[in-house]
Amino acid sequence: MDFIHYGTQYIDDDDISEVIDSLKSGFLTTGPKVIEFEKALSETVGSRFAVAVNSGTAALHIAAMLAELHPEDEVITSPITFAASSNCVLYCGAKPIFADICPDTMLLDIESVKSKITAKTRAIIPVHYGGEMCDMDAFACLAEEYGLVLIQDAAHSLGGLIRGKPQGAYLGMQIWSFHPVKTITTGEGGAVTTNDESVYEKLIRYRTHGITRDNSQFVQHSEDDGAWYYEMLDLGYNYRLTDFQCALGISQLKKLKGFAQRRKEIVARYNTAFDDMDVLVQKTPEWSDPVRHLYTIRLCDKSQRRVVYEQLQKKNIGVNVHYIPVYWLPYYQKIGYERGICPIAEDSYERMITLPLHPSLSNEQVEYVIEAVRDVVS
Ligand SMILES: *Cc1c(COP(=O)(O)O)cnc(C)c1O
Repeated sequence: MDFIHYGTQYIDDDDISEVIDSLKSGFLTTGPKVIEFEKALSETVGSRFAVAVNSGTAALHIAAMLAELHPEDEVITSPITFAASSNCVLYCGAKPIFADICPDTMLLDIESVKSKITAKTRAIIPVHYGGEMCDMDAFACLAEEYGLVLIQDAAHSLGGLIRGKPQGAYLGMQIWSFHPVKTITTGEGGAVTTNDESVYEKLIRYRTHGITRDNSQFVQHSEDDGAWYYEMLDLGYNYRLTDFQCALGISQLKKLKGFAQRRKEIVARYNTAFDDMDVLVQKTPEWSDPVRHLYTIRLCDKSQRRVVYEQLQKKNIGVNVHYIPVYWLPYYQKIGYERGICPIAEDSYERMITLPLHPSLSNEQVEYVIEAVRDVVS
């Protein structure tokens, strides 16, 4: 069996010809494809507005900027995520606070979040880990009760529904990533979606240096200022996404239904196969209809993790581990986080192995992975 990646992009001839057409159009950076991609994305995720940026990390950064964080402020998130989910809080000079996860769903535990809310809490970043989604109805109530900014880290969960509603229907912001392993790709890329027009206007400025040419936003415009005039209102960045990447994104979004269906088929097959085995799988909460990004198993005997991982690698299966608890990473240790903050997250990490899941896996490869796991976990 050839090497099987845990996740990879699916690019076809339609994607390639869309990118070539865009390259020939005369626009390289911001042009009509950016607007078209933003419109298609907001329709897909059920939000009024979308702002495309050059990575999911940039999306998290400008979303966190909206919370107007000060040095003592706190933002609560999950430790079982990619470091970007909390790095954005550090970029804004504030303090990430890690709440624990639920053992069965591996999603941020709202009870643990409640226990960590203080007078300094400004925002919550629920992470839709693996594509399973947090209960956003409950998180939205909590955010309203305490006046907190709500940012869904939806990098894993494009296409998923919560109680039949799209993730973009909720208050606050949602961030998306279009890195090659994610559900659709633009190479590198990301976006923030929202239903709030004033939030949207700020995000648009933060993407381009904090600069605006919209005279309704000007604060020191005078009679002598002509059409050249612009103002910088905030300290923004250059987080723009190119037009040809957006052309790829539009073409990829057209395939989302097919991608979702194939991911669901593979997850269903894995779930059935692992049902009678000595491994834990990530449970789907009753409110969620997910398009899974990751398929992780957790071993009952954690002393076996390294051996199982290495034997699966030897069988040419590109298993992985998602994720090391963020506050265990050396940088977080250096700035004062200690181990032991989130015991369930730490225990889950020690048992966890990520299996291959992407739309181009064949049935034969899926069965090969299942047999290999059955073989090795005994
Ligand atoms: C991929 C990812 C991001 C952002 O990723 P980029 O590589 O910057 O696009 C953010 N959060 C999570 C949970 C992710 O998996």
